[in-house]
Amino acid sequence: MSDCLFCKIRDGQIPAAVTYRDHEVIAFNDITPKAPFHQLVVPTQHIASLAEAKLDHAALLGKLMVVASELASAAGYRERGFRVVMNAGPDAGQSVGHVHLHVLAGRELGWPPG
Ligand code: AMP
Ligand code: ZN
Repeated sequence: MSDCLFCKIRDGQIPAAVTYRDHEVIAFNDITPKAPFHQLVVPTQHIASLAEAKLDHAALLGKLMVVASELASAAGYRERGFRVVMNAGPDAGQSVGHVHLHVLAGRELGWPPG
């Protein structure tokens, strides 16, 4: 999608600190980290929201989770723990209209979330 921030990061039009990339998934550091470790795991395919996802996307969405876990583990948070969050829609605070999984670690994370 031409006017999408994360499509532009995928295409190299906007810089990001990329930590993982293959043909289906890209991950990069969140520009405003909410924890010592905060990365975003993003499908290269533009899907506007989890609310738009179809069963055809199930394997891709599952892959986001596995990549998130591998990134957190590689950064040393396998034992201590990490959290994955996907915001969908305005009440959840989704601010970028391209599906992305937050991966947060490095501090005790409150529950329930705000
Ligand atoms: P959400 O609010 O769940 O849609 O998450 C969007 C996330 O994208 C926020 O945590 C932002 O800090 C992050 N973000 C916004 N712009 C950029 C950018 N240029 N590079 C990396 N992360 C970004
Ligand atoms: Zn996009």
